[in-house]
Amino acid sequence: MSEQFDLVVIGGGPGGYVAAIRAAQLGLKTACIDMNTGKDGKSALGGTCLNVGCIPSKALLDSSKHFHHLKHDYAEHGIEAGEPAIDVAQMLKRKDGIVAKLTGGVAGLFKANKVTAYHGRGRLLADRQVEVSLHDSDDKVMLEAANVILASGSVPIQIPNVAFDGEFIVDNVGALEFDAVPKRLGVIGAGVIGLELGSVWSRLGADVILLEALPDFLALADTDIARQAGREFKKQGLDIRLSTLVKSAKVKGKEVRVTVEGKNGEEQLTFDRLLVSVGRRAYTDNLLADDSGVKLTERGQIEVDENSRTSVPGVWAVGDCVRGPMLAHKASEEGIAVAEMIAGKPAHIHFDTVPWVIYTDPEIAWVGKTEQELKEAGVEYAAGSFPFAATGRGLALGNAVGMVKMLADAETDEILGVHIIGANASELIAECVVAMEFGGSSEDLARIVHAHPTLSEAVHEAALNVDKRAIHRVN
Ligand code: FAD
Ligand code: AMP
Repeated sequence: MSEQFDLVVIGGGPGGYVAAIRAAQLGLKTACIDMNTGKDGKSALGGTCLNVGCIPSKALLDSSKHFHHLKHDYAEHGIEAGEPAIDVAQMLKRKDGIVAKLTGGVAGLFKANKVTAYHGRGRLLADRQVEVSLHDSDDKVMLEAANVILASGSVPIQIPNVAFDGEFIVDNVGALEFDAVPKRLGVIGAGVIGLELGSVWSRLGADVILLEALPDFLALADTDIARQAGREFKKQGLDIRLSTLVKSAKVKGKEVRVTVEGKNGEEQLTFDRLLVSVGRRAYTDNLLADDSGVKLTERGQIEVDENSRTSVPGVWAVGDCVRGPMLAHKASEEGIAVAEMIAGKPAHIHFDTVPWVIYTDPEIAWVGKTEQELKEAGVEYAAGSFPFAATGRGLALGNAVGMVKMLADAETDEILGVHIIGANASELIAECVVAMEFGGSSEDLARIVHAHPTLSEAVHEAALNVDKRAIHRVN
């Protein structure tokens, strides 16, 4: 006998758990199956994001930033603190505490909303039947639902001849757990994860070399922003080697020997630890029975339409296991939209206004089109920019690096993209997302009162500069 639900969600990450809570709020009898296990051996909801992604990486980024400031920046403020030392075990304990609080919080929200949680592996069979292999026993439970959401997330991509060993050659999980600062850290892939985790260990004293196959740095970002980011990271000591393809890596004793093919031909590099961060792939292993009917794309993602419907009626898929950016907030918004559609409400997601953030120092954030995309598409645009160095708040903070760049349609003035590099870019971008979502123009932002002194004044001035009337710069 199968237990009956209105909705069964497979995967308890930001896509799945948010969908389950929203569905329960809307009165649907909901179950969520998640197989992740925390350090205490118990279920740890929240997926990659809460356990080994967004949250622990930000915890370590903040700890390492404090250390870096203490070491390099406090003297300028007249603060003398002697030679600081880092207690890595304490830093990791703090991070684990934050993770435990949040994963426990999701379990609490499930209880409060009456979502039935299963700790185990879910597998979709035919006719929206779901088989659950429980974590704590050999028993299997059968569930059946009018609707099923697949939210199985993603896992790190492995490259040929570079095998993870969990100690010397690691993925994001290992790089969040180093028990000491590696003297020499190699990072394969200068993308978002490589830059963030490379920054953590570099700030704590590691010599970090990032090996990036592509010739362009941060090719997804606006070129002006990527160029400035490259300069800043270099100043911080991050050694970013472009056009450098990693061919193999082997652990020898307590070292990792890496062979790369770069601008100067083949070269050998030696590290104490190697982080492989070359991207992630949709995770669908053992998720679908042969007769489930759910189709995958050529890239191994679950095939969905613009409303997250799979090839099987009543089966939906959201988050990292489907097309679109692998970002937690994109997964969650898809989850909410699907829950609302299942409950018969209108819902949609506007993929054009999903913000991107890289939590380096300076932070990088953007929404909408880059200048190079507009050029390629032949769109006529006007650009305005403003440096944080011309803001009082930036100077008072002692962190006035970077700028805001705004791109607007040359004829209608509708904002087409905003690109920020600088302190708190992750927060500043929200205003621009709202403006774009409402179809706003640069004139709209230019006419809005921004508090003084704040970093948001740079957004205001960039909007004014689209029309070459910024006040605190020569236009
Ligand atoms: P996941 O979070 O991967 O969750 C899927 C869950 O489903 C997992 O718990 C998994 O165990 C479970 N599961 C899979 N298959 C089954 C099955 N058959 N049965 C039961 N359970 C199953 N994004 C941001 O937006 N901001 C950031 O700052 C950010 N930082 C990141 C830093 C790092 C180091 C990493 C690795 C990622 C980061 N991301 C960030 C990306 C973000 O973590 C993902 O986009 C997000 O977690 C995707 O959510 P999801 O629900 O689709 O999948
Ligand atoms: P992201 O998808 O943001 O995590 O970035 C991953 C990065 O890894 C991309 O910029 C890829 O170009 C890079 N990459 C992939 N394979 C290799 C490789 N073998 N050597 C070096 N860089 C790689």
